[in-house]
This record gives sequence, structure tokens and C-alpha cells, in this order.
Amino acid sequence: GLSIGIVGLPNVGKSTLFNALTRAGAAAANYPFCTIDPNVGVVEVPDPRLDALARLYHPRKVTPAVVTFVDIAGLVRGASKGEGLGNQFLHHIREVDAIAHVVRCFENPDVTHVEGSVDPVRDAETVELELVLADLESVQRQYDRNVKAARSGDKQAASVVRVAERLLEALGQGQPARSVAFEGDDLRTVHHMHLLTRKPVMYVANIAEADLQDPDANPHYRRLKEYAARQAGGAGAEVAVVPVCAQIEAELADLSPAERQEFLRALGLSESGLERLIRTGYRLLGLITFLTAGDPEVRAWTIRKGTRAPEAAGEIHSDMERGFIRAEVVAFEDLMRAGSLAAAREKGLVRLEGRDYVMQDGDVVHFRFNV
Ligand code: GDP
Repeated sequence: GLSIGIVGLPNVGKSTLFNALTRAGAAAANYPFCTIDPNVGVVEVPDPRLDALARLYHPRKVTPAVVTFVDIAGLVRGASKGEGLGNQFLHHIREVDAIAHVVRCFENPDVTHVEGSVDPVRDAETVELELVLADLESVQRQYDRNVKAARSGDKQAASVVRVAERLLEALGQGQPARSVAFEGDDLRTVHHMHLLTRKPVMYVANIAEADLQDPDANPHYRRLKEYAARQAGGAGAEVAVVPVCAQIEAELADLSPAERQEFLRALGLSESGLERLIRTGYRLLGLITFLTAGDPEVRAWTIRKGTRAPEAAGEIHSDMERGFIRAEVVAFEDLMRAGSLAAAREKGLVRLEGRDYVMQDGDVVHFRFNV
């Protein structure tokens, strides 16, 4: 599933948010492996479609998709030079799919700011500079390792060198690796370089409770949005900004689902910060959800947009991909409107799709396969 690394300067609300998210969304007992590392939390993706399917199928088990959040501490000014926890954080951050970069947008004299004042754009630039410097070092190393082989005609090495030269130029000017566009072999090469500043990023603007209903009223938040829009330029990668109030998330985390809905309504909000973060992460990474529904289990599965039916079946079990025959597909909305699978079938809303079928978000699927 999707993994999101939470980064940011100290004292901006990272651990408050991380603890809230993992308390709110985790059935920790179901994911015992994550109790080994206190900085990793597995969170169930809230999806009302699962509840609706459960009412239809009365399954024994409902299994949501999950997102892993990783609290990546130790990013301070000079981290790439070994300040603070130094390079330790780099190792964790290389492994995540996307970065949630928490910046402080709330004023509070009781909470010390490491840089002396609230300024989310300066903070974002400080953190990004560390990531750029780390990438610069890593690209330089990969360049050095390949330059000789490239000269003697090794095609793969030549691609690394070609890619590295363009990256070194951008990174050297303080630009993230995502600002450089690549194609074909070079795109594959850059993918394998595991660069921090090529990962999709969302800024998580930690705003005051009072600003939640209308974040744009907060000038720090507005400046951050402008900054994100400028960042997005380059190769056209989206840089999202998600407003949350870490303190409110912490309060939400301790409520029952019903109380949570009530509390959100009272705040004038339609969804929690957790839901906004996950939705944004899915969008940034081009992820969609398909569903399987039956007697023992109703379940959500995460795939990339553009995934074809056999590969989607492979998410469930490799045997299903290998022996794929057909996918029996009904759109979630159609199934709900019809009221049952039998009724949907009578109305001709259940389709039999072959190996070339491109899966759609909300498809309720039954795969037929040879064992
Ligand atoms: P971290 O170092 O980035 O992990 O920051 P923490 O989560 O430890 O938060 C630092 C301080 O800011 C703590 O005293 C929090 O209670 C406070 N804090 C975090 N989020 C908020 C918020 O949304 N509003 C306010 N007023 N204080 C917050």
C-alpha cells in the first residue's frame, strides 16, 4: 500500500499529527509488525463504500485499504551535513512513496519556533534545501561511479551520466529533481536513483483551530499556497497544500466514529485531516481503489490508475493473475442503485471484461481464474 513520510522542522506539530493519525485510523492489533517501530503507523483508509457494501453483503470481515505513515524525525538546518540526527533520517525517507511536509502556520507564543518566528515558506525552503543537498551528494556519487563505463560505451552507464548531468545542474541551483523532465530510458534511470526531491510532496499546513473553516483567512497559509503553486511549475508535478489542525486531529482521534462525525459537523468540516491527507496522497500518486465483495469478506484494494484487470487480480493473489480468465465488474454506484448484484445483473450493469480492461475507481470486481 501507500506509504507517506512525515517531515518538517522540529516543533511544528509532526508528532502531534502522527500520533493523532495513527490513533484515529489504526486497528493496531491487526498490524502487529508496526508496533516494532514507534515511528511507523498503519492507518486504515476510511471509505464509506465499504460500509455500504457491508450492509449489502453482511460479510464476516471488512478489510479497508491501509496507508503507512512514517514519522521521520531529525530534519533540521544542516541535517545533510550531519547536524541533529543527521543522515539517519535520509534512510527512512528514501523508502516512502510520498512526503507530507508539515509546516507551522499557527501563532502561539507558548510554542517555541526553532527559527524564532512563524514563517512557513522559510521553513519549507530550509527543509527542502537539506533534501536538495542530500540528492546532490547522491547524484554526484552515482555520476562518479558511472562516468568511466559510460565513456567505454556502456549504455546504462551513459544514461546515468546523462541524467546525472542534468540533475546536478538543477540541484546545484537549489531546484528539486522533480523539476527536470525525463523520457524513456532516462525516466527509468532517474526512477532507480531514489531521489528525495523527486517524490510527490504535499505541504501539511498546521493551522490554528480558528482558521479551519476558512484557511485562506490565515496569511501564512496563503503564502504557503503561493509558494507551492510556484514549485509546481517545472515538469508539471503537482505540489499540494493540505490544511490541518494537529491539535484538533488529536482530539478527533479519541472519539468514537459517531462522535467524530458530530464534532466535525460542529466545526463546519466535511472530513477530518486524516481523510484529506489520504485523499491527497492518492491523487498525487494516481492511486485508485477497487473493491471485492462476497460472503466472507468485503475489501478495498489500492492500485495505480491505468492498471489492467489481470494485474489488479494479482494484487489479491498471484495465482489469480496467472490464471486470469475474466473480470466480472459492476460500478459501485450502479450496484447500489440496483440494490443487489442479482438486480444489477438483470439490468445488464454487470460486465464481463477481459485482460485489456483498465480498472476504474470504485469497480466492484469478481475475478474468474483457472487454478
Ligand atoms: P514536532 O517536533 O514537529 O513533532 O512537534 P510536536 O508535535 O511535538 O509539537 C510541538 C508543540 O506544538 C507541542 O507543544 C504541541 O502541543 C504544539 N502544537 C502542535 N500542533 C499544534 C496546533 O495545531 N496548535 C497549537 N496551538 N499547538 C500545536
